[in-house]
Amino acid sequence: MSLESLSVSQPSLFVVSGPSGSGKTTICRRIADQFNWYYSVSHTTRPIRPGEHNGRDYFFVNEAEFKDMVAEDAFFEWARVYDNFYGTAKEPVMDHLQKGQSVILDLDTQGAALVKKLKPEAVLVFINTPSVDELETRLKSRGQNSEDEIKKRVQGAQNELSHIDEYDHVILNDDLDSAIAKLQDIINEHRQQSKTQ
Ligand code: ADP
Ligand code: 5GP
Repeated sequence: MSLESLSVSQPSLFVVSGPSGSGKTTICRRIADQFNWYYSVSHTTRPIRPGEHNGRDYFFVNEAEFKDMVAEDAFFEWARVYDNFYGTAKEPVMDHLQKGQSVILDLDTQGAALVKKLKPEAVLVFINTPSVDELETRLKSRGQNSEDEIKKRVQGAQNELSHIDEYDHVILNDDLDSAIAKLQDIINEHRQQSKTQ
């Protein structure tokens, strides 16, 4: 029996960032389904959008509830993004990793940098689009944001893009299936490397 077949692979921690509308949610959902990974559900103070469900897309909380969780040190990381608070609860992420299940997080660039500090083994992936115009088109066609929200998110794209060099991998989400295939390749390569270390 080879040494490789004896080795047990460690669960992975992947963080996906990118401008709003770049396709992070779509890609994370598909990856979590395909690999049976835990796609973390964040807490947020932003209003629920049409088509979203509490507990599936986010845990929608008010500012006082969010601040209580901060005071209780219940967050793995949290940040203020587009005038609202967003945070990843510590317990479910740690529980899944301890049970051996890999975790994928969809975070802004502030959250991703914090996670990398806390868990240097985390793999950071940035999802980009061919242009900022394309982001606007996708946000409009998603049909969940007001004009004002879309404007804020398109303006925020430049800020997210200014952190692209902090990421281990950049994927251009031009064609969705190719972008997912690229992330699958990155994950498989990472698993292979973790086995041989
Ligand atoms: P994010 O989570 O980054 O804000 P979403 O995953 O919600 O982005 O995607 C934004 C919209 O763009 C959704 O309607 C999604 O179906 C669509 N979308 C995702 N990838 C592509 C792509 N490669 N080409 C066209 N539309 C896409
Ligand atoms: P949206 O409001 O469009 O769902 O998300 C806005 C931004 O918040 C996205 O960039 C998304 O990645 C980020 N985000 C979602 N959840 C979290 C979280 O728990 N922590 C941090 N830091 N960012 C988050």
